[in-house]
Amino acid sequence: MKKLKMYINGKWEDPSSGEFRDIINPANGEIIAKAAEGDISDAKKAIAIAREAFDSGIWSDLLAVERAAFLYAIADKLEKRAGEISYLETLDNGKPLHETQFDVADAVACFRYYAGMVTKPDGVTYQVPDPMQAMVVREPVGVCGLIVPWNYPLLMSVWKIAPALAAGNTVVFKPSEVTPVTAQCLFEIIEEVGIPAGVINMVMGAGKTVGNEIAESLDVDKVSFTGGTATGRHIMKAATGNIKKISLELGGKSPNIIFADADFEAAIDYALFGIYSGAGQVCSAGSRLLLEESIHDQFIEELVKRAQKIKVGPGHDDETEMGPLVSKGHMEKVLSYIEIGKQEGAKLVCGGSQIMEDGMGAGYFVEPTIFINTTPDMRIVREEIFGPVLVVQKFKDEEEAVRLANDTDYGLAAGVFSQDGAKALRVIKKIRAGITWINCYHPTYNEAPWGGYKQSGIGRGLGTFGYEEFTEVKQININL
Ligand code: NAD
Repeated sequence: MKKLKMYINGKWEDPSSGEFRDIINPANGEIIAKAAEGDISDAKKAIAIAREAFDSGIWSDLLAVERAAFLYAIADKLEKRAGEISYLETLDNGKPLHETQFDVADAVACFRYYAGMVTKPDGVTYQVPDPMQAMVVREPVGVCGLIVPWNYPLLMSVWKIAPALAAGNTVVFKPSEVTPVTAQCLFEIIEEVGIPAGVINMVMGAGKTVGNEIAESLDVDKVSFTGGTATGRHIMKAATGNIKKISLELGGKSPNIIFADADFEAAIDYALFGIYSGAGQVCSAGSRLLLEESIHDQFIEELVKRAQKIKVGPGHDDETEMGPLVSKGHMEKVLSYIEIGKQEGAKLVCGGSQIMEDGMGAGYFVEPTIFINTTPDMRIVREEIFGPVLVVQKFKDEEEAVRLANDTDYGLAAGVFSQDGAKALRVIKKIRAGITWINCYHPTYNEAPWGGYKQSGIGRGLGTFGYEEFTEVKQININL
């Protein structure tokens, strides 16, 4: 059984507790690895090492081309191991191989994107009275604590690690305790390319211990977190001790609005893709489908037919379109929301159960599920379920569509489908969300900022915005 260790100061380390956690394949409940169960003392050690590495300038003082070369080298090695890593990601997280192959390719592209950015800084000078010269430079923040969830184990890690390293920071990284397998591969690569010891460290373990220590430590200058909104709130509080810089990428309950004049086929395809890719365990999932009244019944009839045909199965099977949920605990949470929906009086028109046939009962498979006849106050409409559960809302006109779409504490993503381009743009501009799509759902680019309004987070990942989150801004005023 593979033992996953922590990576601190350039060395692979056992946890000081001596404990290892079982890592489970969600397709069949079998143990696939044992992961180091780090604790607070391990986190403290990694933070001290990262602090020392940052203060020594061993990373930030490198020439930009030198840092870029390391990032390009990581991308190349990740690409060479793409087949193996996507296989392992599917084993650990459960999502179909075609999805994890896409995630690994995206991770490679993300490293290359930020490698390119290292050598292209731009700056600002201001016209101030002679003989003064005023300019602005960007510098690394310092020690960055990076904490990620289980839904895109590798990709979420890379979205943070690549820009943090590009900007010259040192890192303490914590993968999700549920899915640490591919982080191990990434750190093997980091070791192979020869990033100096101490610059990037990985501590595995629970959020309440390791994660909390990273958020609280006075030696961590910034925490960049992706995960649930409740955890984000906790991290914000924990980070107050040294007024840490924080970036939070949190949950969502995103509306996908379909007008009667939408391309019907495309809207059906994207409605399905919006909720069932990643088995709905996607922060930006289009989990609330808003349908214009006049097409509601016809749309639901077709949607249900198509949802029932989705091939659910183990992620390594070629025909599988949707995999299992990530863990037993998470499956139980999703099933409990389905019960809540029924009790609240919503009408279940598709799915609703765990799949037990063909030996799938040993895994955590849940049917693609659809509720109609919902009201805006229902918990299934308001709360993030994070599973293959679509809730449908009906609207009469543009004004009601916008009002329902914005009637949420979240503000991560939104979609609008209409063949009237002016209307689609008008509506999307009124939606309070950071990531929006017109006549499509889910395309994501390394170049474009990722993040949410309201309780979906603070700050932006990816693009130049994501890079800047890992920098401090300094003005330099020179008396010539
Ligand atoms: P989670 O909040 O339970 O855990 C995320 C990470 O935080 C894990 O590494 C966990 O160990 C750690 N953690 C937990 N408690 C902590 C604490 N008290 N202090 C510090 N760290 C702690 O989230 P999850 O269940 O792993 O992931 C699902 C959530 O992530 C969903 O809400 C989803 O919407 C969100 N998410 C958001 C984005 C985005 O970009 N906005 C992307 C992916 C996932």
